[in-house]
Amino acid sequence: MGAGLSKTPAAFLESLPTSSHGTVHVVMLGLDSAGKTTALYRLKFEQYINTVPTIGFNCEKVKGTLGRARGVTFLVWDVGGQEKLRPLWRSYTRCTDGIVFVVDSVDAERMEEARVELLRTAKAPENAGVPILVFANKQDLPGARDPNEVEKLLGLMESPVQGSSGAATTHPFYHVQPACAITGDGLHEGMEQLYEMVLKKRKLSKQSKKNKAKQ
Ligand code: GDP
Repeated sequence: MGAGLSKTPAAFLESLPTSSHGTVHVVMLGLDSAGKTTALYRLKFEQYINTVPTIGFNCEKVKGTLGRARGVTFLVWDVGGQEKLRPLWRSYTRCTDGIVFVVDSVDAERMEEARVELLRTAKAPENAGVPILVFANKQDLPGARDPNEVEKLLGLMESPVQGSSGAATTHPFYHVQPACAITGDGLHEGMEQLYEMVLKKRKLSKQSKKNKAKQ
């Protein structure tokens, strides 16, 4: 866990995500302590694993279990969320098929900070149109904001583009999924939604390439 920064620079760059057929590349982002590593290991091992703060990244292959995502391999990169590590996020999101943004639904104080980081990621030109799954995590705790509230607080509905739910959003493909990374509730449901968005995006890209070729 968290071994990424011990690699040589060349090996580090080699290991960064690139798009390939068959495997869906996913980058998991969010503030530190949001529950990213807990979610990753819960998805991977189907059990709760105690985590340590991520300095660098964790990377695991995870199998989808629901709907059309059943049997699909997701290569999930869990990137450290501490402020000093956030500039690294851009390296991980290049060529990714999807972004998972994990939010602590109880941490009202840092919701604004999460909003700023999420919108920075969503608006980066290299992430244009990349599907975003938001895990509104820690739903088991008293005072957790429900997914609708989390969606509003994160400002995903700020600009007039259609989201997956049909609501206006800053981003064409996003979904907010209530989750508890400790019990695993909502995690596979979220991955299924992410996969559906990835498929939709691939279909649209193919169509627009065909249309361009016709012109
Ligand atoms: P990361 O920094 O985003 O990778 O966060 P971690 O996965 O290390 O989790 C930070 C802390 O939150 C740990 O103590 C976890 O046990 C706890 N945690 C993570 N997800 C949940 C959840 O859904 N519910 C509760 N109650 N605690 C959680």
